[in-house]
Amino acid sequence: MAAKRDYYEVLGVNKNATDEELKKAYRKLAKKYHPDANPDNKKEAEEKFKEVNEAYETLSDPQKRRMYDQFGPDGPQGFGGGSGQGPFGQGGYYSYSSSGFNGFDDFGDLGDIFSSFFGGGFGGRSSSRKQNGPRKGADLNLRMEITFEQAYSGVEKEITVTRNETCDNCHGTGAKPGTSVTKCTTCNGTGQVTQVQNTILGQMQTRRTCTVCHGTGEIIKEPCEVCHGNGTVRKQPRIKVKIPAGIDDNQTVVLRGEGEPGEKGGPKGDLYITVRIKKHSIFTRSGNNVMCEVPITITQATLGADLEIPMVDGTKVVYKIPDGTQTGTKFVIRNKGFKSVNSSSTGDFVFTVKVQTPKRLTKEQRELLVQLAKTMNEQPPIKKRGFFG
Ligand SMILES: [Zn+2]
Ligand SMILES: [Zn+2]
Repeated sequence: MAAKRDYYEVLGVNKNATDEELKKAYRKLAKKYHPDANPDNKKEAEEKFKEVNEAYETLSDPQKRRMYDQFGPDGPQGFGGGSGQGPFGQGGYYSYSSSGFNGFDDFGDLGDIFSSFFGGGFGGRSSSRKQNGPRKGADLNLRMEITFEQAYSGVEKEITVTRNETCDNCHGTGAKPGTSVTKCTTCNGTGQVTQVQNTILGQMQTRRTCTVCHGTGEIIKEPCEVCHGNGTVRKQPRIKVKIPAGIDDNQTVVLRGEGEPGEKGGPKGDLYITVRIKKHSIFTRSGNNVMCEVPITITQATLGADLEIPMVDGTKVVYKIPDGTQTGTKFVIRNKGFKSVNSSSTGDFVFTVKVQTPKRLTKEQRELLVQLAKTMNEQPPIKKRGFFG
């Protein structure tokens, strides 16, 4: 399969495009490449048309767009578990879901075009399918706060999710156990009734939602006492969430199928967890590097020293700084930074030494320094390049 084109490129918009701009670009391209509008090169148009749809499907959904921006253009392919690289191959996390896309709802006039092209197979195009066909459950969004250390090493956490779940009493049918759900005879199970009216323009057929079954196509004579006929009950299950090592502030983890239940046999929605990382008292993060300031004494700076540097994982690394080290000098300990979430690389640990000028000296220390001062010029010579050259 050829490499995927960038979705922004496909739609011909820039990365900061607003929803309105996306929609506009999409409408234009969808009309241009619609196979029915290109009878001479239907095959090519169809490819383009699908590409445009795929791009819009992702970018029009704020959550998916954020994921796409975060993980790059290989996202939808790489996250399904096939890439084998990084944590994305595990457990089906971090994956997009493209089922149940309802993006066409925004486009009244385009809706008809799509239904003719996809022949209704896209799920929920014609109005009766929309009423009665399988529908994907709603996605849920949660925030989770973790520590700097947890982001560094990865963590498994339990969260409480409030969502609907299938009623155990009636197994989701909504009917009292022992009774059954029957087909609505008024609409013959379609959920809609057709009325024929005589008007000055002739006979008009109108369809409306069946008032007897409220569009469900089903009649529940004796509802389940637990869910009152809904088939679902509100629950608060505890769910384990694996946060991968190296996750950055504001990144999102997706648990597929942990959202609200689907309707009429449709798939469950997904659970999106946006991670916030607490500030650390000594470490900060820059890309995948860990940054840290290390105070040193004037003698350590002057004579050189073996410094014990604390790492994020709690271990210590002894690092030798040379004599004559200036304040503000940066030292790098390789591969002790954050793991990259989407590649096999690892960042570095970068520390900056800050020379502490002593404020209180013992009498002895002061005398020693006075002795030292006598052996040196009062002030180092000012070079032409300036103080710090
Ligand atoms: Zn009915
Ligand atoms: Zn029930």
